Parts: sequence; structure tokens; C-alpha cells
Amino acid sequence: MMKKRVLVTGGAGFLGAHLCRRLIRKGAAVICLDNLWTGRMDNIRSLAAHPDFTFVRHDVTEPFYAETDQIYNLACPASPAHYQRYPVETCKTSVLGAINMLELAKRTGAKVLQASTSEVYGDPEQHPQTEVYNGCVNSTGIRACYDEGKRAAEALFFDYHRQYGVDIKVMRIFNTYGPGMQPGDGRVIPNFITQALAGRDITVYGDGKQTRSFCYVDDVIEAMIRLMEAENGFTGPVNVGNPCECTVGMLAEQIIARTQSGSKVVFSPLPPDDPKRRRPDIGLAQRTLGWKPLIGLEEGLERTIAYYRTGAWTDDA
Ligand code: NAD
Ligand code: UDP
Repeated sequence: MMKKRVLVTGGAGFLGAHLCRRLIRKGAAVICLDNLWTGRMDNIRSLAAHPDFTFVRHDVTEPFYAETDQIYNLACPASPAHYQRYPVETCKTSVLGAINMLELAKRTGAKVLQASTSEVYGDPEQHPQTEVYNGCVNSTGIRACYDEGKRAAEALFFDYHRQYGVDIKVMRIFNTYGPGMQPGDGRVIPNFITQALAGRDITVYGDGKQTRSFCYVDDVIEAMIRLMEAENGFTGPVNVGNPCECTVGMLAEQIIARTQSGSKVVFSPLPPDDPKRRRPDIGLAQRTLGWKPLIGLEEGLERTIAYYRTGAWTDDA
């Protein structure tokens, strides 16, 4: 039997590297496409010698051709620190990357999955967020390059589906964390853990009362593969995340306690448009994919702290 040929854009990033590892273990032939903007070769080092793994250094804003059965489109910086530094490149990556991957899917007949985001809901007025909520995004603010880029990508996915019959899957991922996130990534969990382990101040933005719902990486990868494999014509969009909501202040206290750190919390101004509350309604994922997260914040933080202490990934599902 021919192996499934799977293209993963952004495959050297945090989620992409976990996905590549899981796909190789499942027996797929994987092409990992990445321009190494926010990803790194270290994330995929263990796969490099595998006969079914190919790394291609390429920018997803340029057309790409390969015979493929499935395309996971993950290429895009996800940390606010990264995308706010290069907003134009971020928006181009979302929009042109989506077009190039949809064109490839149209030509090869591959299924194509878009890694969309809870950011399509912006600073939401509906809580928790369901997929039918249209969101509240500031289209001119400093998060717009990412939020509107991802919204445009979703629109393109559904237009290619309606106009050309492309087999699409759209997954709205909520805050995800775990081993493999770069220490300098800038997102809250790597920031707090590296600060706590080094005994530096923990940098809480705002009063720390804003909330997020953090999902462990293995749970997200499981949902991603289930969505891609679903043969029932289900396109999404579907929320994937852990509905367990916590304030940023509580997260800081938990990380200080779990690392037994002497660090103290310091407060600085909240960045503009920072969402105040975020929690996914995952009813649709439960009903259509039979999926729910299995790893709670306590266990996930333990595994992630162990990674930052040792640099080793020991916990792939
Ligand atoms: P990441 O920054 O670790 O990985 C992104 C990868 O894409 C990197 O390897 C980067 O080099 C690559 N990339 C960026 N621009 C590219 C381009 N123009 N051409 C080729 N490669 C490019 O981020 P992540 O957390 O792994 O996120 C992966 C995807 O999942 C992103 O699309 C992100 O929007 C989405 N997502 C992630 C989260 C999360 O919490 N991790 C939440 C919602 C959505
Ligand atoms: N945050 C913080 N300190 C940090 C990094 C982030 O208080 O060092 C806050 C940030 O303002 C936001 C939350 O943590 O309210 C999550 O931020 P992150 O950048 O991880 O993701 P996003 O804002 O995209 O959900």
C-alpha cells in the first residue's frame, strides 16, 4: 500500500513539529515545509534521518507543488511578540499561504486543513465562544495582522470549497502550550516558566485578571488528526481547546509554586486589544470528532516545566 503523503506547512514550529512526529509514527510520508522564521531545525532534528521525512525550506507565500493526499497549513507566527514585529509579513503569510495551499489542494485533490485560531473571535462579547459567534475584532489594531489574516484565510477556505469543491477542514485552535515552545517565544507560558526557573521577575501584563483557557499540545494534535481523517464531509469551523479557564494572575502563581521559584510578580500595562476573556465551547468537537482534552493544566504544566529544565521531549503521545 502507498503511504499517505502529507504536507505540513510550518512543520518546524511548535505545533508543526509535534504533528510531524505524530504523522511519522502513524506511518505517513511527511514533507515539512518551513522558512524557519519562528520555527527551528532543533524541533525536527530527531526526524531528519527518517526515510519518510523530508524538510523543504520554502516560504509559503510562494507557490509550491508536491504530490500530496493531505495538507496541514500551519505556517504563520502565532506569538503576539513575533507577529506584531512583522505585521505585513504575517498578514501575507496567512492570506497568500492559504491561497497557495488551496491551489495545491485544488490541483492534487488533497484534503487541506487550516490552523485557524480563537483570535477570529477578537475580544469576544459572547462567553464561552461558540463557532456561530462572529467575533469582535478591531480591524485596524496591532493584532489585526494576525486576526484579520486568519479571518481572510477562513473566508478563502470556504470560497474554494463552495466554488471549486476543495475538501477543506477549518480548526479554531485556542491557546496551546507544551514542550517544544521556544523559550524566547514571548507567549505567556514559556515566558512565565523561563522567568520562574531563572529566578527573574514574572511579567504579568495588566492586572492579571484577564483569562485564557490553556490546552496541552498532545490533545490539540489528536483533534487535528481526527478532523483531517473525518470522512463525513465535516468542514468545521470547529473550536479545539481546553474549556478550563484561568486568569493570567492565577497562572503566574501556579508556575511559581510548581517550580518552587523565589520569583515575584511584577505588573506592566496591558497591550492594546488584549482579549479580556477567552474560553471555547467544545460541544461541536465532542459531537463530531468524539474528542475532548485529556490532559489538565496541572499535568501539562509539570511536563512543560520538565522540558524547560532538561530541553528533552519525553511525552509525545
Ligand atoms: P510557531 O511560531 O511555533 O510555528 C509557526 C511555524 O510557521 C514556524 O516554524 C515558522 O517558521 C513557520 N512559518 C511562519 N511563516 C512562514 C512562511 N511565510 N513560510 C513558511 N513557514 C512559515 O507557532 P505555533 O504555535 O506552532 O502555531 C502553528 C499554527 O497554529 C499557526 O498557524 C497558528 O496561527 C496556529 N495556532 C496556534 C495556537 C497556539 O496556541 N499554539 C493557537 C491558535 C492557532
Ligand atoms: N501575558 C502576560 N505576560 C507575558 C506574556 C503574556 O501577562 O509575559 C498575557 C497577555 O497579555 C495575555 C495572556 O497573557 O493576556 C496570553 O498571552 P499570549 O501572548 O500567550 O497569547 P494571546 O494573547 O494571543 O492569547
